[in-house]
Amino acid sequence: MKKGLNTICVHTGDVEDKVYKGAVSPMYLSTAYAYEGLEKSMYPRYFNSPNQLMLAKKMAALENAQSALIFGSGMAAITTAMLSVLKSGDHVILQNQIYGGTRNFIVEECVQYGIDFDFVDVNNWSELKSNLRPETKLIYIETPSNPLLEITDIQSISRLAQENGILTMADNTFASPINQRPLDFGIDIVIHSATKYLGGHSDITAGVVASSHAIMEKVFSKAKNFGGNLADQTVWLLERSMKTLNLRVKQQTDNAQIMAEFLEESEFVERVYYPGLKSHSQHDLAASQMQGFGGMLSFDLSPKCGISKFFESLQLIKNVLSLGGVESTVLSPEKTSHSLLSQKDRDQQGIKSNLVRFSVGIEDTKDLKRDFQMAFSSSLL
Ligand SMILES: *Cc1c(COP(=O)(O)O)cnc(C)c1O
Repeated sequence: MKKGLNTICVHTGDVEDKVYKGAVSPMYLSTAYAYEGLEKSMYPRYFNSPNQLMLAKKMAALENAQSALIFGSGMAAITTAMLSVLKSGDHVILQNQIYGGTRNFIVEECVQYGIDFDFVDVNNWSELKSNLRPETKLIYIETPSNPLLEITDIQSISRLAQENGILTMADNTFASPINQRPLDFGIDIVIHSATKYLGGHSDITAGVVASSHAIMEKVFSKAKNFGGNLADQTVWLLERSMKTLNLRVKQQTDNAQIMAEFLEESEFVERVYYPGLKSHSQHDLAASQMQGFGGMLSFDLSPKCGISKFFESLQLIKNVLSLGGVESTVLSPEKTSHSLLSQKDRDQQGIKSNLVRFSVGIEDTKDLKRDFQMAFSSSLL
């Protein structure tokens, strides 16, 4: 029988301490191991050091994958996975709203390898179908999306792709495997920035690719050439962090629902974007493919408040760039994550200058509410 999520988080993939029988995994830092034939020889850049192999088991178990690899960053995972399944002459379809770094990789790098691409509204069926070509090899999605928490229909997209012999890849960073497991809906490859929820304490950069044995063989053969493995000290720290993944994400998800409802009621907020709200146009779709609605939400601040003053007035909630940590953070997508887009592109995507993205932490919601109340009053124009 498959183990429960908390049990997987705590136990799957711990390295047994055979010498001292300690309670936690020993850290193996060797870069040189006894040579046991090429197949078996261990070397960190071959992604097969003891700590890497064991953490990969935990990740595979969480994503219901056959196999996984741990990378030095989310981008190392994304780029290696893409170049494992794409070659010169191929075409890739990407969801319009994806992580900026992924977009840059496609636009700035992939063209140099002769890989063609289109960004499409993947929820617009006729637009998606009209962009399919005989050379289309991959459809790439990210759901919920950043920063407006739009939901992509995972099952419909993977069905369409399968019918056309196309592979699918999903960036599952925002939901985490606690709230969403895309492989269960027919997606071929899942990637993560483990820098966010998996690490969870804003102190680790890492990435994950998870898929079938056959696809992971291909990913491994590129990965060892590109050399994007995670250092074993950090692999160990990530394993330690992931023991509390389910507890953290559950609390963040519960908090996000409470805060989304609070913000929706507030006279200082124009609109809240959170898939857990009945007012979210894709609430039912989200409920059909997510176990929980996640810890990320966004909202449009009322024009009654000045946005800079609002950010300055928050005391508990930090104004910092990343997301997924145990601490609550906010940012202005216009000024940070989406600042490189033109005004026209931001307008088109619905990213307004008063938009606030909120990564909900594990703090007590009464304290988070108080912090917002105070910042709303202090920023009144
Ligand atoms: C942060 C992030 C990435 C990139 O991960 P890094 O660890 O910064 O390389 C990719 N996708 C999403 C959705 C992210 O939030």
